[in-house]
Amino acid sequence: YAAKAAGSQLMVYTAELDERADATARLGADLRHSLDDGDFRVVYQPIVELDTGRARACEALVRWHHPVRGVVSPVDFVPVAEDNGLIVELGEFVMRTSCWKFAGWRRDLGRDAPGYVSVNVSARQLSEPGFPEVVAGILAETGMEPAQLLVEVTETALFGGGVAVAAVETLHRAGVRIALDDFGTGHSSLGLLRTVPVDVLKVDKSFVDEIIAGGRPPVIVDALIHVSKGLGLRAVAEGVETAEQADYLRELGYEYAQGYYFGRPVPEPSFHARAAVPDDRSETDGAQPFAVDQA
Ligand code: C2E
Ligand code: MG
Ligand code: MG
Ligand code: MG
Repeated sequence: YAAKAAGSQLMVYTAELDERADATARLGADLRHSLDDGDFRVVYQPIVELDTGRARACEALVRWHHPVRGVVSPVDFVPVAEDNGLIVELGEFVMRTSCWKFAGWRRDLGRDAPGYVSVNVSARQLSEPGFPEVVAGILAETGMEPAQLLVEVTETALFGGGVAVAAVETLHRAGVRIALDDFGTGHSSLGLLRTVPVDVLKVDKSFVDEIIAGGRPPVIVDALIHVSKGLGLRAVAEGVETAEQADYLRELGYEYAQGYYFGRPVPEPSFHARAAVPDDRSETDGAQPFAVDQA
């Protein structure tokens, strides 16, 4: 009886898997068409200096305007594009679009212009031969300084070393800055900080979520600001949704954060916004844009 039950469960399971494989294949084919048709857009989420409430930089996030399904989340299609290799073309589109956008802000916004743009790069892109040269080409065509580009990679993409780590090292030698994204959620977090050149830790939203009024102490965000400062890295807290979280992070010593509280990802973020500024600090002028403009 047990075997029979297990057998029928297995059938349901494989049917479900088939269906899922079909859906994934369809999505993959749609990706190809949409790349040709130009259905991808890039939106930008401000990265805010907690002391002043000013947007100092932004993260580029891809959006797919699917002709039938509407906007599809990158959580659903980036893994598919990774599997079928289209992430290489899509990622180059995102990088080029973001860098041209950034160059326009630098040209037009004067002292409000962001200090850098942050672009997510997947494991597959990093391991593609010639990726650092593609990045160098985009920097040259847009006239950007390498330090005005922050490349976000995940711990998991770097796990196992090899070509991906070599690409990060090449980029870093060229002056491009490197962030570990979703820090604390992947493989071998702390060991990587010794072996890979990293400039910025993006502390994952799941740890910021632990900052709840009256809740238990959020020990990981507390620990990670020490790790970050001890190693001479910048920390950016991700997924800040409340004023309490922003205040708490600032008191812990975080200088930068992003999240819906400060602004959602949009096509044209306002770098002039003074969201969430403590009253007495709203005009802290002369503060340097994040890390880039000293030269
Ligand atoms: P990520 O790089 O960690 O980006 C942060 C994600 O958190 C974004 O989701 C952003 O919209 C969302 N977020 C920001 N603040 C908040 C908040 O306060 N609350 C909540 N609930 N969410 C917040 P998004 O745009 O859906 O992207 C999801 C993931 O997809 C990204 O996570 C990144 O891993 C990947 N992704 C997005 N764009 C690209 C891309 O161009 N290339 C690659 N390779 N991956 C991308
Ligand atoms: Mg990211
Ligand atoms: Mg992230
Ligand atoms: Mg994340």
